Amino acid sequence: MGIRANTINFRGESFCSAVRWKFPTQALLPANPDILEGVDDLIQLSYLNEPSVLHNLHYRFAQDIVYSKAGPVLVAVNPCKDVQLYGNDFITAYRQNLLDSPHVYAVADAAYNEMMTDGINQSIIVSGESGAGKTETAKIAMQYLAAVVGGSSGIESEVLETSCILEAFGNAKTARNDNSSRFGKLTEIHFSATGKMCGAKIQTFLLEKSRVVQLAKGERSYHIFYQLCAGAPSGLRGRLRLKRACDYTYLNQSDCLVIHDVDDARKFHMLMGALDTVRICRDDQEQVFEMLAAVLWLGNISFRVIDHENHIDVVADEAVSNAACLIGCGIQDLILALSIHSIQAGREKVARRLTLRQAIDTRDSLAKFIYGSLFDWLVEKINVSLATGKQHTGRSISILDIYGFESFKRNSFEQFCINYANERLQQHFNRHLFKLAQEEYELDGIDWTKIDFEDNQDCLDLIEKKPLGLISLLDEESKFPKATHLTFAMKLKQHLKSNRCFKGERGGAFSIRHYAGEVLYDTGEFLEKNRDALHSEIVQLLSSCTACQLPQWFASVLEQSEKLTSSAFQLGRPAYQKQSVATKFKGQLFKLMQQLEKTTPHFIRCIKPNNKQIPGAFEKDLVLEQLRSCGVLEVVRISRSGYPTRMTHQEFTRRYGFLIPENSACQDPLSMSVAILQQFDILPEMYQVGYKKLYFRAGQIGSLEDVRKQV
Ligand code: ATP
Ligand code: MG
Repeated sequence: MGIRANTINFRGESFCSAVRWKFPTQALLPANPDILEGVDDLIQLSYLNEPSVLHNLHYRFAQDIVYSKAGPVLVAVNPCKDVQLYGNDFITAYRQNLLDSPHVYAVADAAYNEMMTDGINQSIIVSGESGAGKTETAKIAMQYLAAVVGGSSGIESEVLETSCILEAFGNAKTARNDNSSRFGKLTEIHFSATGKMCGAKIQTFLLEKSRVVQLAKGERSYHIFYQLCAGAPSGLRGRLRLKRACDYTYLNQSDCLVIHDVDDARKFHMLMGALDTVRICRDDQEQVFEMLAAVLWLGNISFRVIDHENHIDVVADEAVSNAACLIGCGIQDLILALSIHSIQAGREKVARRLTLRQAIDTRDSLAKFIYGSLFDWLVEKINVSLATGKQHTGRSISILDIYGFESFKRNSFEQFCINYANERLQQHFNRHLFKLAQEEYELDGIDWTKIDFEDNQDCLDLIEKKPLGLISLLDEESKFPKATHLTFAMKLKQHLKSNRCFKGERGGAFSIRHYAGEVLYDTGEFLEKNRDALHSEIVQLLSSCTACQLPQWFASVLEQSEKLTSSAFQLGRPAYQKQSVATKFKGQLFKLMQQLEKTTPHFIRCIKPNNKQIPGAFEKDLVLEQLRSCGVLEVVRISRSGYPTRMTHQEFTRRYGFLIPENSACQDPLSMSVAILQQFDILPEMYQVGYKKLYFRAGQIGSLEDVRKQV
C-alpha cells in the first residue's frame, strides 16, 4: 500500500517536522485537494487510492459522521456508541429533504419513494462482518419506515417488536459481538395503495443450532435461555421446574452467564410484552417456555457406562423426569429413546444399546431439533400475526440482514454456507452496480466503454454445479455410511482440482478462493453437519407425546418434509433422512435471489472500525480489509477507470466560472462549463460532457483546483 494521501504532496519526497524521510516516488500516491476533505461520496475524491478512501472515512468518523457513500452504496461505519443522528427530528428532516447527507434514513426514504413512484418493489441489502452493525442498521431503516409511513393499524409497532423476539431466540453473545445474530433474516414490509405499512413477512435462514448444545469459552447460548432463568415469575418457574442458568450444563459449560450492562430479567419482561403484541396467546407462550426448559433439562441428562464396550445406561435422575414431563412423554420412553436403537437385520429388527458417544449425540440432536423447530414455529406464528390484510397491493420493501463473509483460523461447514451465501449476494451486487453505472452514463448521453469487473461465476460453479460441484459431492458422500471426512476430502480433490478457485490441502482440508479472499476449510464435521440426522426413535417419541402439542407438531413437520429411508446412517439403522442442510440452504438462496432480482436494490455495507467495539478507535488495516472484501473498493476501482468525479454544470460554473472572461457568464451552465474546460486546456480524453453533468477522470478536479488557488 502507498503512503497516506493528504499528508504528502506528489513530489517524491516528504518532510516530517523532526525527521526527514525519503521515499521512492513510486511509493507515493497523489493527495486530494482540500475541498475534497471529508466528502460525502468517496467517488468525488479526485484521487481514488485506498489511503485517500480510508482517510476520508476516518476524517468523517472522527466527527461522528458515520455514513458515507461510495457511488450508489451506503458505507456505514459502526460508531460503537450512541451518536446524535437518529430520532424524530432527523426522520422529519430526511422526509422533507431538509437533510441530504448520507444516512440509513436517506436510503429508506429513497426506497420508499421509488416504490411509490415507479411501482417497483425495493430491497435494502445490509451486509458486513459480525459486529459491523447490520442488525442495528436494519432496525434503523425499519424505524424510519414505521415512523414515516405507519398506518393506523398498529402494524408498525408489531413489525418493530418482532426484532425483540427474534433477537431473544436467534441472537447470542459471541467473541465478536454481545448481540450476534446467528441466523439470516429477510423482512418484507408490505404497503397499501396509499403507501401505508399494512403487513409484513419474515423469512429466516440457517439458524446455528449447534450453539444450543456446544459453546466456545466466553460465549453464550441464545439470549432467551438466560432471560427465562432470570426473569420467569415464580408460578412459571414452578411449572417449568426451572433452576438458575448456572445449574444447566448447556449454559454453564462456557463460563459465561451474563453480558455486561444487560439485565436478562428485564429483557424477559420485554419479551413477554412483545409476544403479546404479536398476539401469541398465553397458552402458546407457556408451551414455548416448556420447550425451552425441556431443552435445558435434556442437557443435564447424564449416562453411566456399563461395560467395556462403552455401552450406557441413562442415569434416572430429576433431569430425565423433568425433561420427559416438559416434553410430554413417559420417563421410560425417553430413557429408551436415548439408550437403545433398533436396526434392521434382514427381516428382523434388533435392539442395540448405544455407546456413550452415540447417546450424547442422540440427546444433543434431540435438543437441537426441538430448539430449531421452536424457532421455525415462532417465525410462522409471527408471520400469521403480521399477515397482510386486504389492502395489500403487492408493493413491498424487503430488508435483508444476513451474515457477512467469514474467515477464521478454523473454518467449518457453517463458514462454508455463510461464504457461499455471500458469493451469491456478491454476484447480485456486481451485476446490479455495474449495470447501474452504465445506465447513468448512457442516460446522460456520454460515451461508455464497458469495464471488466471481477466475476465470481467460477466460484459459484465450484460450489453449485451438478453433478460435480462441492455441494453435490458433499451430499453424495453424506449418504455413504462408511464415509469419513478424509474420504470426502479425497473426493473433492479428485473431482475439483481443475477449478481455479479450489485447492486440496493437507489433512483433509481444502481451500476456496472466494471473491473476498482465500478461506481454508476443515472438513472435520462437514458430513455430520450436512446430514443433521435425527433417529427414527426420537421422531416416534415426539409423535407420541400426547400431553403437549408442540412436540407432535415438530415431528409432523419433519415427517411431511422428509421421507423415511432405509439407507443406513452411522449406526446402520434407519433414520429420517432430511434434505441435506447444504441443499436446503442452496434452495433457500435461489429463492432469495429470485425475490431480490425482482426488486430495485439499495446496498448498505457496514464496517466495524475495531474488533472490541471501542468508541473512537479506527483501525485502518481492519477497515481496509472490510472495504476490500465487501466490494466497496471494487466499486471505487470501477469508478476510477471510468469518470469518478461528477459535477452538475451549475455546481461547476459556480466554482470555476470566475476564471473565465465576464461576458461568458451570461451563457447557460452547459456552455459555460465547456468554455471553462477549453480555457484551461483540459485534455478532451480527461472528461465527458453530459446533458446534466460533467464527468471527469480521476485527478482532474485536483488540477483545476490548483489553477483556482493560483488566481
Ligand atoms: P452479527 O453479524 O454478529 O449479527 P451485526 O453486524 O448485526 O453483527 P450489530 O449487532 O448490529 O452487528 O451491532 C453490534 C453492536 O454495535 C450493537 O449492539 C451496538 O452496540 C453497536 N452499534 C451498531 N450500529 C450502531 C449504531 N448505528 N449506533 C450505535 N451503536 C451501534
Ligand atoms: Mg446481527
